[in-house]
Amino acid sequence: MQGSENVRGIEGSATLAIAALCRELRAQGREVIDLGVGEPDFRTPDFISAAGIASIEQGFTQYTPVPGIPALRAAIASRMKNDHGHLATADGVVVSTGAKQALFNACFVLFGPGDRVLLPVPYWTSYPALIKLARAETVFLSTNPENQFKISVDDLQRSHNSSVRGLIINSPSNPSGTVYTRDELEAIARWAHANGVWLIADEIYGRICFSAERAPSLLDLDDALLERVVVIDGASKAFAMTGWRIGYSYSRKDVAREIASLQSQITSNAASASQYAALAGYQDDSRAKGSIKAMVTIFQQRRDKMLARLATDLPKAAPVSPDGAFYIFMRVDAYYDDKLTDSGAFCSWMLDQTGVALIPGSAFGDDRFVRISLAAPNAALAEAVKRMGEALSKRVAVNA
Ligand code: PLP
Repeated sequence: MQGSENVRGIEGSATLAIAALCRELRAQGREVIDLGVGEPDFRTPDFISAAGIASIEQGFTQYTPVPGIPALRAAIASRMKNDHGHLATADGVVVSTGAKQALFNACFVLFGPGDRVLLPVPYWTSYPALIKLARAETVFLSTNPENQFKISVDDLQRSHNSSVRGLIINSPSNPSGTVYTRDELEAIARWAHANGVWLIADEIYGRICFSAERAPSLLDLDDALLERVVVIDGASKAFAMTGWRIGYSYSRKDVAREIASLQSQITSNAASASQYAALAGYQDDSRAKGSIKAMVTIFQQRRDKMLARLATDLPKAAPVSPDGAFYIFMRVDAYYDDKLTDSGAFCSWMLDQTGVALIPGSAFGDDRFVRISLAAPNAALAEAVKRMGEALSKRVAVNA
């Protein structure tokens, strides 16, 4: 079908497409190790689920205010104060149907035709589509793995012109696990502020950080630098609540009002039971922190073991060690040949030969790489590396 101009060039999410393919292959009886997954392989903590169930039993099943129930907005604001010392007010918080909707809302409200939005590569797969839906144009900023894919103020300055209206930063990053330091964030925020550029900071993995309890945040900076900043976060990753669909944006009040107006015409409010469930997570910080810590410790152990296994079994690959999120972005172009010419071909071949599903780096803007998810049990991760190593060494031997 030929869709309207609005959706021309918008493709479905590559990561969700791989998830669907894995389900299909399994339904056909194939044994698949799905390392494409973008969600924690942990249950939502029981106290959070129980709060959602209780809200249904108590009859809280109607529409809620568009930007979220007041208690949840207040709990999120108070979490920001506790974590970052930022004097957040609840009216800057708009709760949405996942961080993805919060990102859509922010892009649609802030950007429009003629605007350019700077986006460091590799990027989370949905940003270019969200920018395009707002009819703005993405300006891709190249980075390099030696510098953990970070962009600097010089890079930003080089790409700046009068039509640049936005910049999206994702720290910790999906797919690379890059975590910006506070000083680096501050330099970027100062540049954006000085140049009148809106900065969208996607901090959805902020609590999944290996070197600290949480990654540095834009909210750690002075209020004066936050005037043109929208922080995106949510419950999906930290509380293992992907299916509940709770995300939020935090911004200046007038921006939050615009975002809520837009949302009022699209989805109205996030699901009420999900809001009550997330409320328990934001209010009971010590229990939430306990669950997060247990999950992050396991991700970290998996990361360390995976890096060691990959070094042995895939000697020509170059994985980048992540400091946050739960993915390993790995350079594999040393294995490319006349048939395996890009990351898509590499992943299709790998799935076909070994049953291991990975996400091609092309989905994140860098075709030399693939993304491996750590959201799978250790035994599955070990088996996946073994199979990949065997298949690749056979191929290399045949080609030699
Ligand atoms: N931002 C990033 C960087 C992500 O990786 C994801 C999900 O994978 C999202 C936003 C969307 O999160 P949600 O599931 O809350 O919509």
